[in-house]
Amino acid sequence: MTGRIGNIILIGMITGAVLGLMGGLWLGDFMLSIKFLGTMFLNALKMVVVPLVVASIIIGVTSLGDIRKLGRTAGKTLAYYMATTGFSVLVGIILVNLIRPGDGVPPIGAEVPEFVASKGGGTIVDVIVGLVPDNIVGAAATGQILPLIVFAVLFGGVLTVIGDKGKPVIAFFEGINAAIMKIVLLIIYFAPIGILALIGGIVAENRASVDKLITALGMYSLTVIIGLLIHASITLPLILRLLGRKKPFHYFLNMGEALATAFTTASSSATLPITMECVEEKNRVDPRSASFVLPLGATINMDGTALYEAVAALFIAQIYGIDLSIGAQVIIFFTATLASVGAAAIPEAGLVMMTLVLTAVGLPLEGIGIILAIDWFLDRCRTTVNVWGDSIGAAVIGQTKEFNQ
Ligand code: ASP
Repeated sequence: MTGRIGNIILIGMITGAVLGLMGGLWLGDFMLSIKFLGTMFLNALKMVVVPLVVASIIIGVTSLGDIRKLGRTAGKTLAYYMATTGFSVLVGIILVNLIRPGDGVPPIGAEVPEFVASKGGGTIVDVIVGLVPDNIVGAAATGQILPLIVFAVLFGGVLTVIGDKGKPVIAFFEGINAAIMKIVLLIIYFAPIGILALIGGIVAENRASVDKLITALGMYSLTVIIGLLIHASITLPLILRLLGRKKPFHYFLNMGEALATAFTTASSSATLPITMECVEEKNRVDPRSASFVLPLGATINMDGTALYEAVAALFIAQIYGIDLSIGAQVIIFFTATLASVGAAAIPEAGLVMMTLVLTAVGLPLEGIGIILAIDWFLDRCRTTVNVWGDSIGAAVIGQTKEFNQ
């Protein structure tokens, strides 16, 4: 996409978001009637996710050439994910202990929401077992990205060791990847309308809870938002500058379309096609790095979600007057990190994973009901930070020596 058209679309997306917000507040019924346009935009994004993830991971792995490089790149990528997620949880834990947003808040609405009770976060073992798909078509059909990634890494890896027989297959997936990226460009043209309809619909549906943002749950929301801002505007840009060797503000502007889409869809996986386009085409990150780091990151690297898990768990403890020891807070640190790894890249997945964190330190699951009212909003904020963290990861890994020889 040329710079000028890209800028026009970005302005269109921001205008769409603002109009959607105002429309949702004042023209609720109309906004609900055009919500289907947003659903179509979202469907179009989801439509390309499975072929994009499979093709880009396969060509990402095969383009590394030497299979040993994959191990090193994967190790560095995981180290980046864990370090940044750990930083962000730490910021969350420090803030929630300083601000203490839960003190004096009555536990109104405390019950386990139906969709959380029925799904549950599962255990860590479930997350590990889920890595190996028993049926890749089934995993693709149900949008389980992580098992697909495992298969694509394996498939790409063996393509590099079967010699000439693998070459046409690699060329085939290169073609698929290029074609899907073209479709992504077409979808982006519709983003302003899609964003207007999605934001308008969600605000119209949640008008009643908007006041909760400023009242009872205000300090909690503020704690999460301050934490996200610190992570997104200090920690991550510093890492980008020092390790990714890019200018953070410029990089941020170029990510505008992806970040706006993340905020609108509350789904890192639905945003992935646009994240890839912004990182590769606009920020000129090595596509070999982007095509490996971004799909994996969308699924397991969620800095915003991890921070939110920790803040929410400690907020719930404060509401119930439970004083958590340092030991218990260390457990929250680790479980919040793992919960973010296990959370699917879809809306509200973080809320479902709260069960894992709360159970680990014996906090009442009913607490999830208290924070439910404003989760639709915080979900959008944390997803935006999740996508920002992934995009910086691609730049950082793109600077490692495996990609600079
Ligand atoms: N919606 C988030 C994402 O897709 C996950 C979460 O609920 O925290 O990144």
